[in-house]
Amino acid sequence: MNVHEYQAKGLLKSFQVPVPEGGLATTPAEARAVAERLGPGKYVVKAQIHAGGRGKGGGVKVVDSPQAAAEAAEQIIGMTLVTHQTGAAGKLVRKVWVEKATDIARELYLAVVLDRVAQRLAVMASPSGGMDIEEVAEKHPELIFTTHVEPGQALWPFQARKLLFGCGLTAAQVNAGTALVQNLVRLAWEKEATLVEINPLAVTGEGTLVALDGKINFDDSALKRHPEIAELEDPEETDPLERQAVKQGLNYIRLGGNVGTMVNGAGLAMATMDVIKMAGAEPANFLDVGGGASEEMVTKGFEVILSDPNVEAILINIFGGILRCDTLAAGVVAAAKKVKLSVPLVVRLEGTNVEAGREILAQSGLDFEVAGSMKEAAEKIAQVVAAAQAR
Ligand code: ADP
Ligand code: MG
Repeated sequence: MNVHEYQAKGLLKSFQVPVPEGGLATTPAEARAVAERLGPGKYVVKAQIHAGGRGKGGGVKVVDSPQAAAEAAEQIIGMTLVTHQTGAAGKLVRKVWVEKATDIARELYLAVVLDRVAQRLAVMASPSGGMDIEEVAEKHPELIFTTHVEPGQALWPFQARKLLFGCGLTAAQVNAGTALVQNLVRLAWEKEATLVEINPLAVTGEGTLVALDGKINFDDSALKRHPEIAELEDPEETDPLERQAVKQGLNYIRLGGNVGTMVNGAGLAMATMDVIKMAGAEPANFLDVGGGASEEMVTKGFEVILSDPNVEAILINIFGGILRCDTLAAGVVAAAKKVKLSVPLVVRLEGTNVEAGREILAQSGLDFEVAGSMKEAAEKIAQVVAAAQAR
């Protein structure tokens, strides 16, 4: 789960990471009031959406009066912000965060990220922070320093110092920064975050460190243990189909293609998406209806898949292990009739009683194509969508 910058900054603050003072606004008048409360000086008005790259997209504005803060809010609220992370459709901005402008001497990059290969949290720092860390990673990987944290332990001070000296900080800054990096690791560990990123971490004109941006991703599977984090979810930032699917108990992730997929078991679902891609087509979603794949779950699965307007055909790949194939086939047929299936369907069944299952599909009177192997299923579905697009 993602949270907004203002929520991330709230958490950073509660872990003693310095952040600028600020306030949330949903109208220009509120933005003006926040700026007045912050006192004289410059302010930054920042679009709150679940995507980075806002600065470049026009979603971050530095202003020098409460009146100008209201005007910036007027421009930003209601705009559809397009950044390299939003996709071409962009994201509607509903609120802004107004904070005190910091006098920036340098911008560093700092992040704690779950390194799944190392099975540890990795801490990364770079002297080249700011807006283009992806480019730094690509062109100057030697400017990104990384260290790992032993599970359940704090980051050793020497590890933090090494990262920070690499960023060219002075001894006094390294001391302040060491506590900051350790607190960041503590936040990631205690709240079970998969990413805590500060970009930029500013070195101010006075030489202090302050987090000017904050991005935190939490492990969805751990949210049950952190109700105070789960509460931060912004339903307006979540894909409505994914939200509907979660409510139905389905494991669904929307993707960009036009081949809807319904599979029982996460591993088989991943393999199915691979073979679809290998056949030259693009999956529209990941969907694991569960090992049991009851008629009820298959019906819910169809409903969610068909709500995606991009879907032009559906591939069902089911392994009858826990349930027999004949039971599964009967469930698929009943569900397809119930939802009045409107797109072509390719079904691949394998497992116990597979012959009886295929017979049920063949006798159903519905327009199925039945495939024997996964490869055949993928090739068939690729042909079906190619034909649909040619029309
Ligand atoms: P994004 O990463 O989405 O572009 P940031 O919060 O990093 O958004 O803001 C973009 C840039 O705007 C920062 O790199 C920084 O230069 C500037 N900026 C952001 N917040 C402040 C602030 N409080 N004071 C001064 N400059 C800021
Ligand atoms: Mg940033």
